[in-house]
Amino acid sequence: MPYSKAKATYYRNIAPALVAIFVALAGIALAYIDSIEEAKAVSKNKNTLIISRINDILEVAEKGASNFTDKLGAECNQVYSSLRDQLYYAPTLRALSLADKKGQIYCSTSLDNDGKKYEVAFLKGYSKESLFLNKESPRIPNVPAIHYVSRTDNGSVIASIDAKNLVLLISPENERLAFSIKIGNTYLNGDGHLNKISFNNLNYVSEQKSVRYPFSVTTGYTQKLTLKEIIKNKTTHIILTSILAIVIGLLTKLTLKSLLSPMFELRQALRQGEIVPYVQVIVRSDTEQVIGLEILARWNHPKDGIIPPDFFIPLAEQTGFIKTISKELMRKTARAIMPYRYRLPEDFHFAFNIAPIQFEDNEILEDCKEFIDTLMPAHFSFALEITERELVNINKQSMSLFEQLHALDVKIALDDFGIGHSSLSYLNDLKIDLLKIDKAFVSKIQGDKNSQSVILLDTIIDLSQKIGIGTVAEGVENRYQVEYLQEKNVFIFKVIIMANLFHLRIF
Ligand code: MN
Repeated sequence: MPYSKAKATYYRNIAPALVAIFVALAGIALAYIDSIEEAKAVSKNKNTLIISRINDILEVAEKGASNFTDKLGAECNQVYSSLRDQLYYAPTLRALSLADKKGQIYCSTSLDNDGKKYEVAFLKGYSKESLFLNKESPRIPNVPAIHYVSRTDNGSVIASIDAKNLVLLISPENERLAFSIKIGNTYLNGDGHLNKISFNNLNYVSEQKSVRYPFSVTTGYTQKLTLKEIIKNKTTHIILTSILAIVIGLLTKLTLKSLLSPMFELRQALRQGEIVPYVQVIVRSDTEQVIGLEILARWNHPKDGIIPPDFFIPLAEQTGFIKTISKELMRKTARAIMPYRYRLPEDFHFAFNIAPIQFEDNEILEDCKEFIDTLMPAHFSFALEITERELVNINKQSMSLFEQLHALDVKIALDDFGIGHSSLSYLNDLKIDLLKIDKAFVSKIQGDKNSQSVILLDTIIDLSQKIGIGTVAEGVENRYQVEYLQEKNVFIFKVIIMANLFHLRIF
């Protein structure tokens, strides 16, 4: 068989399921990738937001400091109250301080106006940096602060910001996100502490620098997204993907069903010229003369070789595809014979087997006309064989078709007679021209002339000859049968060869 049923069933059921699973998995993978991309985007957005908030706060510090750069060098008494007033306008500032050229604070809102000076470590040396993150500030130990320093030739103005307060102000209100601000070599974390957090533990990390001030921010998720979260986030996506997977699976199933159907394969076979005319060469048993050809359809499968007709003719008959096969077979035969048409022996016989379904319309009539026209004006006899095992519906259509076939001089032969319905009404109604007695019936001709089978056979032969129907015996095996049948004027032939028409050289 060209198609393995088990294999076809396997592909028809397993393949669509695999396709559906693949689509569903691809959908989930996309949802996963999408969720991660979203988390990265959130991380980056929050980072940008944090930088922008710090920039705003530092801008206030910068402004506050710049208001006092021209007051540097003045006595603390003269600026102390305006320094304190400034804090009212800049609530994010914790202190404003003035330092001399040596880096010593001599006037500060966080100190008493008592003329004392305080050394500040970060102002020592010749650092040009404008931003510092320190563990403590003058008079307030253990409370980290960010200092914005505005330097002039006369000293520096320092605007200090409470680091814990800053963290509260800039927090992105996302408990999953951690962040860390880096100023110089010091880190200030989202929890207000000054230790470096391990960035390796963060996921979907974003690192950005502020363009305006010398600090950078790192943000990231403290935990990876779980599958449950992804499913929750992407419910609609996953539902749609599942529906898509089912639809694609079903479509695959439908496509495969038609692609893997025997009918599809048969149609393909005909298109690719795999259905070829095989012939039985018919020889007269007495003169050994070739008297005709019976043309039969064979499927020459590229992999499985010659496929017997039992495997595809029943399907072709059921589906009506047999009509197309007949047409092709007649065309191919006519084309192959055409070059030799003038060399055909007188009254050479062509026979094609056709199915009852082909009497339901007039297509076969057109095919016969085409065949005859192609081989004209050669003299040949042309017969359609219908098997007696399946009944032709006798109705207006079939009767009229038979009449038209007869008008074309196409003979109708009843094949396999004796093993099926053996319907005698057939002989009359369908104007059968030839009766082909099946070999199973012929084999019953044995020594006993009075056996029931032989009497029956005699009757049939008598009857058909009386109503003018020729009789032909198939499968004659012995001398006794030959003599018996010849005595009854039954035409005896034998099939000498079964071959591909295209490989045959008989003319
Ligand atoms: Mn036949």
